[in-house]
Amino acid sequence: RMKQEGRNGLRFFSPDLQANTQRSLELAAALKGAIAANELFLVFQPQMALRDGRLTGAEALLRWQHPKWGAVSPAEFIPLAEQTGSIVPIGRWVQRQALRTVRAWDEAGLPPITLAINVSAVQFAQTELVDELCTMARDAGVPPERIEIELTEAVALRDPVAAGKTLQRLHNAGFRLSIDDFGTGYSSLSYLRDFSVNKLKIDRSFVRDIAHDEMARRLVRTMVDMAHALGMTAIAEGVETDEQRAHLQACGCDEIQGFLYSRPLEADAFVAFARANARP
Ligand code: C2E
Ligand code: MG
Ligand code: MG
Ligand code: MG
Repeated sequence: RMKQEGRNGLRFFSPDLQANTQRSLELAAALKGAIAANELFLVFQPQMALRDGRLTGAEALLRWQHPKWGAVSPAEFIPLAEQTGSIVPIGRWVQRQALRTVRAWDEAGLPPITLAINVSAVQFAQTELVDELCTMARDAGVPPERIEIELTEAVALRDPVAAGKTLQRLHNAGFRLSIDDFGTGYSSLSYLRDFSVNKLKIDRSFVRDIAHDEMARRLVRTMVDMAHALGMTAIAEGVETDEQRAHLQACGCDEIQGFLYSRPLEADAFVAFARANARP
């Protein structure tokens, strides 16, 4: 219950909403100090090939552990960070940490794993993004091919001309590119053809329905075919059941990511998982 209708039609904010707003303000303020206070860390969710169940890559997902609020969900704090601009330093921290992690995996003797990082609209609009990523990768001694930049359709479509240029620069620098939450935005084939995207990430909402909804199955099959026609890989997000996995396999999907194989893992647990599931 967000709002209450008053007797004479006036709307009152409920105490719930006030508390919510207060929380947002406090969170936004606390977020500014989160890097310095060492409250941020990355977790890593495995991505597996459907054909043989081997590990192909991972997605880095940001976590915030606050002394007062405990674990705050990125679904809550990323939008706040975008509104206040904190996302820019936080995004840089994520990139640096991700590169450091890839380097550590290599030094630990893991087979080469591609690590995907999420980049939001505000970060993507920063003209220095590409140069910074290149410098960070060079400093970390990590080839750009090992980093995949995840962008949602909404970001790519906000300003397609500018986005296309940035994607082209990232591609030329050697970074891999994927479209996140695919199917929830307004894609057009032409933008996918023009952008040098490697991978489509089929949104969880389609995967959720795939086992009981023929239309969801047809849509997934169409998205997979489209990815392949454009020379891209298709990965399904949010796969939780064997039944979903079987349907995705029947649709020709290449990879899956989801709780069925693994939740996002902390660094040490990921290394153990990678050792057990690496390509031979
Ligand atoms: P996303 O990039 O689409 O990430 C996938 C989300 O789905 C993650 O939520 C992941 O934990 C969750 N997930 C994975 N498998 C399953 C499953 O089988 N079932 C269900 N129910 N959920 C699954 P998370 O970690 O809470 O992140 C939420 C969103 O926050 C991400 O969505 C992404 O948009 C954003 N985010 C996370 N980390 C970062 C970051 O470092 N930078 C930016 N800009 N955004 C981030
Ligand atoms: Mg993502
Ligand atoms: Mg997604
Ligand atoms: Mg998402």
